[in-house]
Formats: sequence, C-alpha cells, structure tokens
Amino acid sequence: MTINVAILGCSGRMGRNLIQAASEHKHINLVGGNVRASSSFVNFDLGELAGIGAIGQKTSTDLNDLLAADVLIDFTSIESTLENIKWCQQHKKAIVIGTTGFSAAQVEIIEQAGKNIPIVLAPNTSVGVNLLFKLVEITAKAIGDYTDIEIFEAHHRFKKDAPSGTAMKIGEVIADTLGRNLDECAIYGREGITDERKQDTIGFATVRAGDIIGEHTAFFADLGERLEITHKASSRMTFALGAMRATTWLAKVKEGCYTMQDVLGLTE
Ligand code: NAD
Repeated sequence: MTINVAILGCSGRMGRNLIQAASEHKHINLVGGNVRASSSFVNFDLGELAGIGAIGQKTSTDLNDLLAADVLIDFTSIESTLENIKWCQQHKKAIVIGTTGFSAAQVEIIEQAGKNIPIVLAPNTSVGVNLLFKLVEITAKAIGDYTDIEIFEAHHRFKKDAPSGTAMKIGEVIADTLGRNLDECAIYGREGITDERKQDTIGFATVRAGDIIGEHTAFFADLGERLEITHKASSRMTFALGAMRATTWLAKVKEGCYTMQDVLGLTE
C-alpha cells in the first residue's frame, strides 16, 4: 500500500525532517508541501530543502496544489493548522497534526472536525514520549495520591509556547488518573514566599535554552525516595518518524480524532 502525503510548513525545523522521513519511507509517496506566500522557499525542491538532494517535488503556497495527497502532515502554527483543517474537511483529506499550543476551545474545533475526517492530534509524536504517558499513568495510579508530583520540561530558545504541549499532556494524564482538575491543581512556576507545598498540586517548571530538542521529567517524590521518569529527544527525526507511523496508521482508519496512544495501540 502506498500513501500519498503532503507536508505543511515544509521549510520549518520539523518540516525538513518530515520531508526526509517521508522520502525514506517505503510506503509513503511524497506529493508536495506548502510554505507561506512570503517564504523565500516558494517553488523550491522539497529534497533540496531537507538537504537530501532534489526529488522533483516543489513547494507551493496553495493548498489546492496538494489535492493528490491522501494524508497531510501539519507541524506549522495554531492559526495555520486551524485554517488547514477547514480545507481538509472540504476535500475529505486525513491530517496528522503535530502543531502544539491549542487552547481547550481550539482542541474542541479539531475534535469536531474529526467527525468528518480522520485526524491524529499529537502534541508529541515520539514513540518514547507516548510510552512515558503510559508510565506516568501507571505510576500515578500506584503512588500519585501521596507523592509530590512535579513536571519539568526543557526546549530550545525558539519555542513559542510554555509549558510544552507534552508537559501539559503529562499533567492531564496524571490529573485524570487521580481525579483532579488540572486547571485547579496546576502551579506554573514559583517565586518569593510560596508557602509549603500543597500535596494535591501538580507543579510545572520550564527551561528555554540553546538547541535543546526536548526533555521531559515527571517527578513522584516522597520522603526518603523519589521516582523520576524522563524522556530526552536527541534529534527531531524521532518526531518525524513517529509522524510517519501516525500517517500510515491514519490512512487505514475512518473519520475520528485520534491520539498517538491510539496509533501505538496503548489505549484500552
Ligand atoms: P518552525 O517555526 O521551524 O516551523 C513552522 C513552519 O510552519 C514555518 O516554516 C512557518 O513558515 C510554517 N507556517 C506557519 N504558518 C504557515 C502557513 N499559514 N502556511 C504555510 N506555512 C506556514 O517550528 P517547528 O519547530 O518546526 O515546530 C512547528 C510546530 O510543531 C510547533 O507548534 C511545535 O511546537 C510543534 N512540534 C511538535 C512536535 C510533535 O512531536 N508533535 C515536535 C516538534 C515541534
């Protein structure tokens, strides 16, 4: 089975890795990609963009040039993704969304779109991170009620949202498992006289520095011991390869809004 794929925002950091991963995948046929109209990479060979040599497919600024795609892969921006979803619904195209930072209301819009087309909404497409989600769920079930739970994340200086979508997802998994409302129990950073830690809170700490690709740790700390569950990404290719896994999976399912947990068979 060959799946025709287009990459949205293909001149971005993730876009270039996605081009390479798609080009090297034996079941994927890369049919195009888009860039902003103001981009200096309009009508540019996709392979050249990814540094893998010309592949004979050029970038476009018009989504209508991507009608040959069965699945679109979108790692762009919130505004762009919300527009792209409208086009996908009009043209019955499946979409893997890697863009992060959506509000609850925006997630709702994406879930509604999932009634018409197949969507994977994956704030982190790394297989290791999705296993981490499962591990924190198991840990929260066992010891979450009496340990102090803190979530640490670090990313490169260019990242625009904080905490990362992945850190928020870790928080949601833990809060859901423990029957807490993350909006009520999350503490985003501390300064000055903070008073003693309230046991049922979930703390978040963020570092933005240099070229860190992505690190996440969930702490479950008691007096005398603590468990730290950590994932470190050392290359963006891990996200690109996970996105390919989501793409080949999505090409086989009907409409719905799915997660990487569904893709990896980790949902009950
Ligand atoms: P980036 O800024 O390098 O790339 C984004 C690209 O999208 C840019 O080239 C930009 O020009 C393009 N773009 C934005 N709006 C557009 C539009 N309307 N039309 C065409 N192109 C448009 O950023 P990045 O590091 O590649 O990350 C992109 C997104 O993916 C971010 O939201 C980031 O948080 C997310 N991300 C997700 C994962 C994951 O595993 N899901 C991993 C890394 C990054």
